[in-house]
Amino acid sequence: MSVKVCKFGGTSMADGNVIKNVKNIIDSQAERRFVVVSAPGKRYSDDIKVTDLLYSCYEQLNVNGTCADAFKPIRARFTDIAKQLGLKLDIKAVLDETERRIEEENSEDFTASRGEYLSARIVAEELGAKFIDAHDVIFFNEDGTLNGEKSYKAIASAVAGAERAVLPGFYGCGADGKVKTFSRGGSDITGAVVARAVNASVYENWTDVSGFLACDPRIVDSPKNIKTLSYKELRELSYMGANVLHSESIFPVRKANIPIQIKNTFRPDDCGTTIVPTSRYVPSGDLVTGIAGKKNFTVIFIEKSLMNAEIGFVRKVLSVIEEEGIPVEHIPSGIDTMSLVIASDALREYKLERILEGIKNAVEPDIIRVIENIALIATVGHGMSSTVGTSARLFNAIASANINIKMIDQGSSELNIVVGVKNEDYENCIKAIYREFFGR
Ligand code: ASP
Repeated sequence: MSVKVCKFGGTSMADGNVIKNVKNIIDSQAERRFVVVSAPGKRYSDDIKVTDLLYSCYEQLNVNGTCADAFKPIRARFTDIAKQLGLKLDIKAVLDETERRIEEENSEDFTASRGEYLSARIVAEELGAKFIDAHDVIFFNEDGTLNGEKSYKAIASAVAGAERAVLPGFYGCGADGKVKTFSRGGSDITGAVVARAVNASVYENWTDVSGFLACDPRIVDSPKNIKTLSYKELRELSYMGANVLHSESIFPVRKANIPIQIKNTFRPDDCGTTIVPTSRYVPSGDLVTGIAGKKNFTVIFIEKSLMNAEIGFVRKVLSVIEEEGIPVEHIPSGIDTMSLVIASDALREYKLERILEGIKNAVEPDIIRVIENIALIATVGHGMSSTVGTSARLFNAIASANINIKMIDQGSSELNIVVGVKNEDYENCIKAIYREFFGR
């Protein structure tokens, strides 16, 4: 029989009643055998996520040498959940032990990981399923990247013989043997790793929205739901800020062609979004699949006559950036010009001045200029590549909204067109593109 891996996000763990829904969802299909959970999220809009409470706990531990006070709200959250569920688990003993270990380990990653650990203990008890500690089965390499092969093997042998198992998301075992976390939102990656390890027929990612929307609903009112996305489109959209799913979570499942289904715990019958291998993607007929973007980029514009003939020019410029350890997002170029688009956050601490100085020394440009407060907007869709005139429509729509485009980058895959506009034009630009391609 085929097997499904279900990952439940923070809002699906928020309180005991929601966890009862989660149990109903899992019980409703026998294939839903392996479950990955996040730490409890917000119950209402100004509530605090358990993971954020845990980071404060670690701060307090550092300042005062104890986290006794900061641990209280965490204790209260889990005690309430266990009570609502009527669990037999001795939650007080588990919490006492957790608090003691947080103080003993004195590590930020260990502390942050306890939200997932406690969620998984509770859900395993509620389901009568085996608890598998992610520290025993998810492994990182020396450089902090995931050790996929070792993790897949360990998970496969840990689940062997278990009818159902529950694993905490977000963390694993670092190369030094200690608990190490993924970046924020990383339980999505754990779910994908488990799906790959058990060769799941589908990786279900249960969240609090019914899938991806064609753009940010805070900018356009009730945008269209995206029913199907290819892995490539997903990567583009989530990298550019559509944050339903962690942008790294496709890598483990992509190799094994496992589809991802985004589902809504609070509306389980909604069809959600299915993310399929690019080879199995059937175009929906829409030219554009989705629009996403991010603010706060800095563009370094460089001009030098005969730049194109100067061998090694681009390499010299890029090595200056590399020495500062900064990622470059886009490099649009002309015959005598090139621009480097960099997230402004990465340029703090005088790095920008050092980079400008470095570039001047390395290539002696005629002009070097910095443009700040740039927003990038990606219009993404496989449908765009085969249709003449898509970019003309895009640029016309932006021009009609009276917005000046500062930069254009069309990936050679023709899957996306990225435009750079002023931060202040960001929302209007997205509205204009949406109106043009989705007719509202
Ligand atoms: N709880 C972690 C976070 O808040 C990881 C996750 O939810 O995926 O980032």
